[in-house]
Formats: sequence, C-alpha cells, structure tokens
Amino acid sequence: MKVLVTGGAGYIGTHTLLELLGCGHDVLVVDNYSNSSPIALQRVRKLAGRDFESLQIDIRDTEQLTEAMLEFQPQAVIHFAGLKAVGESVEQPLRYYSNNVDGSISLLLAMDKAAGHNFIFSSSATVYGAPQYLPYDEKHPVKAVNPYGSSKLMVEEILGDWCKSAPGTAAISLRYFNPVGAHTSGEIGEDPQGIPNNLMPCIAQTAVGRLPQLKVFGSDYDKRDGTGERDYIHVMDLARAHVAALDYLEQCNSFDAINIGTGKGLTVLELVKTFEQSSQQVIPLELVERRAGDLVSVYADASKASRLLNWSAELDVDAMCRDTWRWQSQNPQGYSGE
Ligand code: NAD
Ligand code: UDP
Repeated sequence: MKVLVTGGAGYIGTHTLLELLGCGHDVLVVDNYSNSSPIALQRVRKLAGRDFESLQIDIRDTEQLTEAMLEFQPQAVIHFAGLKAVGESVEQPLRYYSNNVDGSISLLLAMDKAAGHNFIFSSSATVYGAPQYLPYDEKHPVKAVNPYGSSKLMVEEILGDWCKSAPGTAAISLRYFNPVGAHTSGEIGEDPQGIPNNLMPCIAQTAVGRLPQLKVFGSDYDKRDGTGERDYIHVMDLARAHVAALDYLEQCNSFDAINIGTGKGLTVLELVKTFEQSSQQVIPLELVERRAGDLVSVYADASKASRLLNWSAELDVDAMCRDTWRWQSQNPQGYSGE
C-alpha cells in the first residue's frame, strides 16, 4: 500500500515507519519537525535499508498537503502529527486546538481533494476521563478533562461525520494507552524536548544522569504499593497495531475506535524496579505529592483489537525497559547528540 504518514519523524511515527517499510508498504512522510528531527528519519532509512520521501510541511497548509497527495496518491493516511503535552495544552489551549483540530481538518480537506478515503488516527486513552469502571473498554463514556483530550475527542467526532458523508470512507481511531520502549537496535527512541512529562523518559534520563532523581508523584494511592498504575505498551507492539489497522481498513467502511494496550496495569514502583534490573542502574527517587489531575489506575480492555485487528501485545515490561535503556544509553542526549 502507499501510505502517507503525518508526524512520521516523531516517537511513534518512526517506529511505525520501520514496521510499514518492513511489511513492504511505500511511505511518504510529512512533518514540520516542531517536535522531532530529520536525523530520526535518516536512521529509519538506514535500519530499513530502504529510501522514502519526506516533506517538511505543516499539516495546516492544506494547499501544500493537497499537492503532495495528488502527486503521491496514497491509499491510506496514518495521522500522528499533533501536540501531546497535557500540561502545555492547559496553558496554551488555542495552540493545541489549532495544531490538532485545524491540522486534522486541513488533512481531511486535502484527502477529499485527492479522493483519499482510508484514515488511521492517533487517539489516546485520555478521552475516557476518570474511570466509571475498569478496564476501560470502547463503550466506556468519553469525557475530556483537558484541552489535549478535547482535541482528540473533537477529531474523533469529525472523523465520524466525515465517514458518514461519503460512502466507502473509513477511519480508525487507535486509543493508545502508555507507549514506552524503543526499537531493539537502540537507534531510534523517544527524545522529548526539555524536561520530560512522562514517566519512562524521566526514568531513562535519570539513569543516564541527565536528571538528578525521579520524582514519584503520589505514594498514598489505594494501590498495592501506593503509586499510580498505568497500562504501558511497547512502541513496537503499537507500531504493529497500525499495520494491522491498515489491513482492517479494507473491511471497515465507517468510523471505529479501538483501544491499544496490554490490558495489564503496572505501578510506578514496579516499572522503576524492572528498569533497574534491566539496566543494572540505580534510579534515585523521591516520593513527592500527587500530580494534579492524575488518575490512580488506567488500563485497557484490549479485546476489541484482538477481535477486529487480530492484534495483541507481545512484548513484556522487561523488553520495554531493556529497549528504552539501550536507546537512552546509546543516545544520552537523544538525536541532538549526533
Ligand atoms: P511526537 O511529538 O514524537 O511526534 C509527533 C510528530 O508530529 C513530531 O514529529 C512533530 O514534529 C509533528 N508535528 C506536530 N505538529 C505538526 C504539524 N502541525 N504539522 C506537521 N507535523 C507536525 O509524538 P508521539 O509520541 O510520536 O505521538 C504521536 C501521536 O500519538 C500524537 O498525535 C499524540 O497525541 C498521540 N499519542 C501519543 C501518546 C504518547 O504517550 N506518546 C499517547 C497517546 C496518543
Ligand atoms: N509519574 C511519576 N513521576 C514522573 C512522571 C510520571 O511518578 O516524573 C507517574 C504519574 O503520576 C502516573 C504515571 O507515572 O502515575 C504515568 O505518568 P505519565 O505522565 O507517563 O502518563 P499519564 O499519567 O499521562 O498516563
């Protein structure tokens, strides 16, 4: 298949590109590099042993996007491009709505002009809000609790309407739980700009000495060790889910949302312990106050993905930690160290 990948230079995009190329798909990457580096794409080309085109375009530029689509004629679009920091979205909501919502509309307008009708969207478990029950299945009510989550929900609604408007149009929203890990080569991985927000990059940067210690947000939750619980999913498993969704698009002619997680929850301290074992490093940590807005427990019912996509997670928490450590120890300063 010919697949246009927006945000392909980013963390999940690069890993998915490798899977797509490995399965013989042709790709065109569109990225404005606002949170990534072209070096990441060079590494993907080297690892895949295949070349592909990449264009520096902001997805809000409908004209340039349309031109690229008319030229490449993609059979499907995978849409990763977007901003993803929850705290930042509270401080700069308009920037988030512009990038994530206007950007997605611009992409769909370009697809309409190029007669594209197959779409995969990067959504998030955050669309569920606080759990009314666990694990979250796709029937769980949705409720955004911050502008980032609202932007994801708005795009899902838009995709639903877009699919209804034209027969033969299909869109799958993959609701990711907590992506972590890296490709086993250690050549590509997560490279957050500035101080990371998420747990795994904080652990990894503490392990290489970029951060002095890990702050554990809350140790008095009603959980087995008092710390917050999440459903961590290896980024290579997540990448495979996109390839599976591409296949499923052929049979799907409407909008559908599918959870992508392992179905298992892991606490902060459990993840830290496994990372210490895998890396043979000690992670100095401090137990601090709960982080505002944090949920105690988040984990998926991933049975719909298994049923419809014939996909389930294969890599365990040891692999998540080992692969993160290989990437971080080989690239202590991320791509900027090159
Ligand atoms: P990332 O920031 O590493 O990648 C996003 C890419 O999109 C970057 O390369 C960035 O330069 C590009 N981009 C951003 N705005 C753009 C624009 N207007 N035009 C063109 N390119 C643009 O993030 P990621 O972790 O790879 O996440 C990919 C997608 O998955 C995002 O939409 C994110 O919201 C979603 N998601 C991520 C997580 C996570 O924990 N990483 C969880 C759930 C959902
Ligand atoms: N967390 C932490 N210290 C950090 C970052 C995160 O203790 O420096 C905790 C956080 O409170 C939550 C879990 O790790 O319980 C996962 O947080 P992350 O931000 O990675 O994911 P999210 O909360 O968005 O699911």
